[in-house]
Amino acid sequence: MAPIPTNLRSIRDKHLLEISWPNGQTDQLPFKLMRGECPCASCVNEFTGVRTLDVARIPDDIIPAEISFAGNYALRIRWSDGHDTGIFTWENLERIAKVAAEL
Ligand SMILES: [Zn+2]
Repeated sequence: MAPIPTNLRSIRDKHLLEISWPNGQTDQLPFKLMRGECPCASCVNEFTGVRTLDVARIPDDIIPAEISFAGNYALRIRWSDGHDTGIFTWENLERIAKVAAEL
């Protein structure tokens, strides 16, 4: 179970979401990477886990049009491309941060 972030900041001119965790660590997640890692059923086959989203079709200038909390366990993001079914749990964000760190 991932901890609840202590701070979230959408930095549009850098195209990333900055997440601060209770242990003091701060991660920077590029918007385009996050959109490509969307865990929703229209982006990932829920039975096979295979990604059905074509990441090559994500616009380079994608940004979150709206970010809201889904309870205390996740973020719901509506993207500038109109996609709004993605719920990013803290676990998802932790995992995406690891992918971002390896880029
Ligand atoms: Zn999705």
